[in-house]
Amino acid sequence: MQSNLISELSAETPGLVLHGRICRKWKPRNPNTDRVLRLDMICLDRKGDAVWIQVPKSCMDRFDQRVEEQNTYRIANFKVVAETKGYRPVPNGLFVELESTSTIEPTPDHVPPFPTQCFRFLKHEDMFPNRDQRTILLDVVGQLLEFSKTKSSTSINRNSKRKEIKIMLPEGIPVKVVLWGRLGLQLEQIIDAATNPKIILIISSVMVSEFNGELKLSSSSASVMYDNLDVHEVNTLRDSNDALDAPRLHEEKGPEVIGPLSIQELKNFTSDAANLNKIVSVTCKVDKVLNDWFYDGCTKCPCKVQAEADKFYCNKCQTTSRNSVKRFRVQVSVNDPTGEAVFVLFDGEGKKFFGISAQALYADKENEPSDVPAALLTIEHMEVEFHIKVKEFNVKKSSHEFTVWKINEAKESVNSTTKISEPIQENTLSSQQGGGSTHSISTSTVVDIEDEDFDTTNRSNPELRHNANASATPSTNNLKRKQRADSGSDDSDV
Ligand SMILES: [Zn+2]
Repeated sequence: MQSNLISELSAETPGLVLHGRICRKWKPRNPNTDRVLRLDMICLDRKGDAVWIQVPKSCMDRFDQRVEEQNTYRIANFKVVAETKGYRPVPNGLFVELESTSTIEPTPDHVPPFPTQCFRFLKHEDMFPNRDQRTILLDVVGQLLEFSKTKSSTSINRNSKRKEIKIMLPEGIPVKVVLWGRLGLQLEQIIDAATNPKIILIISSVMVSEFNGELKLSSSSASVMYDNLDVHEVNTLRDSNDALDAPRLHEEKGPEVIGPLSIQELKNFTSDAANLNKIVSVTCKVDKVLNDWFYDGCTKCPCKVQAEADKFYCNKCQTTSRNSVKRFRVQVSVNDPTGEAVFVLFDGEGKKFFGISAQALYADKENEPSDVPAALLTIEHMEVEFHIKVKEFNVKKSSHEFTVWKINEAKESVNSTTKISEPIQENTLSSQQGGGSTHSISTSTVVDIEDEDFDTTNRSNPELRHNANASATPSTNNLKRKQRADSGSDDSDV
């Protein structure tokens, strides 16, 4: 029976028959809901050309059962679709869509010989021109050097798990790759099952971007990960004599927390310049949520924007936008037997603690925008463990307003936070690395717009960035506005 080459496929020609090897098969998932979208495959013909096959959910199960990766098939009665926009796992500008009437019959795989894989590996230097090129996805191969714990990543558009890894490319350059969703879990299984310390990974269909001059790769919903696959690139890496150690867990150590201190002790502590940026634990009672609970934030970064007529200007991004996003800046008055203070909760911790975004609360028609929403009042009269970061304005002005780094609802007694029988909550994954109790989540996991928290080295010295920005700003604002703007940008470094 005659078959067509992939180069002969076109949307116009009827009755085409494809004969080839299914070298990759995966189910792309919605990154937010984790729902399977369809079944995808890559088919290679005898010339080595590759085409993307899509199977809609309606007939996915049937084809999924029939098709095994690496076997060869004769495929007929399909539709050829010219794909002009969106991501593509292979360079071919069209895809084959299987329908309920399509057929896929296994064939003996030795005649003709089909290639077994088609990866599009690029050298590090050639990946750069591909950054932000959002059409053809790249594949990457390298030895696993480092991996982080899996974190929950929540942002306006995304609620997913992410794991960061570092791999050594064949040319000896390490790159970071963000694995989204289930790939992180798969990596953990690979590491657990590894018998050889050298784990050589192939991750297909990654997206390339640049962050602070460094190449950054992220998995896509089309990504498939292979470990120690029998292909030339993997074998070369495995056989190279470079004595590299087994992959290691990259621990992001949380900062040391000092305390617990009383409010009076906190005030004394923060007046000493030597304590700048230190984190202090204070457990006290929330008296009242003060008015003015949100600010207008930039849609691209956590900074406060300036309203200009019907637009908003972000000083950090130096861009004007039509939109802003409401972010938490919740001020609570607190007290303990030694004194009173005002603690300020920014967007990340606010969202975690109240379980809702400031934007959603603001949009809720039940609320008068000027009033403090009822959801925020739940914190009043609550005994709370705050982690406070000592800010420059605390030291300079002896301000009694303190920036909350992390917030945990206090247990009945302070000691009970170490109770082993404590039920594990949904957000345990992140709270474990935060080192806090069950409620605590490092705020860094939520400042994830544009995925900027990927680069931990960049985040390690955020004050520098902000100070550089601040010095470029004419100090014409009155004190309160200045302080608010400063505090607004503070949110970006937590
Ligand atoms: Zn901005």
